[in-house]
Amino acid sequence: MERFYEQVRDRFMRYVRVDSQSQAGSDSAPSTMKQKNMGRLLRDELISLGVQNVAMSEEGCVYGTIPSNLSKDTCKSVGLLAHMDTTPDASGTDVKPWVLENYQGGDIVLNKEKNIVMKSEKYPNLKKYIGQDLVLTDGTTLLGGDDKAAVAAIMTMAEYFLSHPEAPHGPIQIGFTPDEEVGRGTENFDIDRFGADIAYTVDGDAVGGYGYETFNAEEAQLVIRGLNVHPGTAYKIMKNAVEIGGEFMAMLPAFERPQNTRGREGYYHPFVFEGTVERAFIRCLVRDHERELYEARKRYIEKCAGQLNELYGEGTVELSWTNQYFSMREVIKEVPYMIDYAKQAIRECGADIFEIAYRGGTDGAWLSQKGLPCPNITAGFENAHGRFEYVPIQSMEKNVEILIRLLTIYAENA
Ligand SMILES: [Zn+2]
Repeated sequence: MERFYEQVRDRFMRYVRVDSQSQAGSDSAPSTMKQKNMGRLLRDELISLGVQNVAMSEEGCVYGTIPSNLSKDTCKSVGLLAHMDTTPDASGTDVKPWVLENYQGGDIVLNKEKNIVMKSEKYPNLKKYIGQDLVLTDGTTLLGGDDKAAVAAIMTMAEYFLSHPEAPHGPIQIGFTPDEEVGRGTENFDIDRFGADIAYTVDGDAVGGYGYETFNAEEAQLVIRGLNVHPGTAYKIMKNAVEIGGEFMAMLPAFERPQNTRGREGYYHPFVFEGTVERAFIRCLVRDHERELYEARKRYIEKCAGQLNELYGEGTVELSWTNQYFSMREVIKEVPYMIDYAKQAIRECGADIFEIAYRGGTDGAWLSQKGLPCPNITAGFENAHGRFEYVPIQSMEKNVEILIRLLTIYAENA
C-alpha cells in the first residue's frame, strides 16, 4: 500500500493550528462558535476532494458521502466519525506544533525559553516511539491530536478512495462532530442524515486499539429524612440524617471505589453528600461492564436503603435512580462482524492490536443506544487533554491504512 506520511502530517499540522475548543456550561450549539471555523475548513476540504452530499449543519456537524463503486448494492454503508473540538482542560489557543524527527529516546525539551521538558520517565509510552517522528507542542497549550489525528486520518482515507477509483468500496459516510469533549457530541447529530448502517468512532489512545464495551451506568439519589430537636432534650427522639447518611456510606465496599478499581472492575462512587440533622442528600454513581454485576450493584444499594428503613422507620431513606447509559456491547453483539473486521484490518496492517473496555461512556455508546451500532477504533495520540500531548506521524499513517483496509474488507464481504 502506498504511504500516506506527508498527506496526513500536513493535514494534521493545519488542523491543530485552528482553535476549536468546546466549552462546558454553554447554552449554544455548538458550545463555541469558533468550532464552526474548523467545520467550514473540513466542509470545504471534503468538497474539494470530491466527497458528495457535503454540508455543515447549523449546530456544526459536518457530513459527507463517498458513493459505492461496487456493481452490487449489498455492501453495508459504513460511517466513520471523529470529533473536531478540543478539550477545555488546557489552552487550545495559538497552538504551535512542531515535529521531532527520528526520536532517539530520553527527555524532550518542548520549550527552551520557558524550560518546559517532557520527562521520559514520567511518560513511559514515549519508549514505544523511538525512531518515529513526533508532533509536539511548545509546552504551553494542548496539541489537539484528540481528535484531529483521527480527522486527518479520515480525510486522507477519503482522498485515497477518490483518487483510486479502481479500489473497491461500498458507501462511505463521513461525520465530524463538535462538542464531544463537553459531553454533547451526539446532541445534534442527525443519524438519518448521516445515512450509515453501522459506524465507527475514531478516537482515543495509541494506534491499534478497538473497543465496544462501556460501563453500564446509573446514578442513585438518596433523600434521608431526619428529625431535629434540641440536642439537650434529644433523648430517644432525635433522628440525625447526617449520621444515617454516614451509615449508608459505611455500607459501600471500600475496595470498590474508583480509586481502587481498574480494567473491568466496577465501582460505587458517592460524589455528593450534603445535609443537616433534618435532611441529607446523597448522589452515588454505580458502574459495571457486566450487566448482571451492574444489576447486582443496584440491588445492593436497594438493600442498604431497606436496611436503614428497617432500623429508622419506613420512609427515612427514599431512593431513586437515573439511568445514564448502557454498555454498547449489548448492541454490538448483534453485529459481531463489526469487531471481526476491525480486528482483521488492524492485524493485517501490522499494528499492535489491543482491546479496551471503556471506563466511561463514548459518543459511540450513545449512537449505539439510538440505533446506530458504533464501536471505537483508536486514533493514535498520547497524553491527551494536556500540554504534553503528542502524536507520532507514523501512528496516523498506520491509521489511514487501517481505515482503508477496514472499508476494503466490507467491500470484499458484500
Ligand atoms: Zn476524543
